Amino acid sequence: MYKIMIVDDAQFMRVRLSKLLTGHGYEVVEAENGEQAVQTYRSIKPDAVLMDVTMPEKDGLEALAEIRGYDNQAKVVMLTALGQESMVLQAVQAGAKDYVVKPFDPDRVLRALQKALG
Ligand SMILES: [Mg+2]
Repeated sequence: MYKIMIVDDAQFMRVRLSKLLTGHGYEVVEAENGEQAVQTYRSIKPDAVLMDVTMPEKDGLEALAEIRGYDNQAKVVMLTALGQESMVLQAVQAGAKDYVVKPFDPDRVLRALQKALG
């Protein structure tokens, strides 16, 4: 069973994504900011990560860079808001596999994850 780390500072978003993924047979672990994401990644080693861009403590781009620095095979899909196109470009250059724009389409999230997992 694939283990996916969901990273978002909005609890409702974590809950919705968690329900979606567990409902499709994924195991889920959550983090609520970039700092927690980096620490949790190191201890849990998830198969893939779904990560928000805008978060306190450490944002998604910084966390992405740290996670990829620790594991250059890390499979990270970014969750972005409309109007964050420049961040998307930076994230892809920093090694993100894909991005999903919020409010997210569940099928789009599942497809992006499947693609990232290979
Ligand atoms: Mg956020």
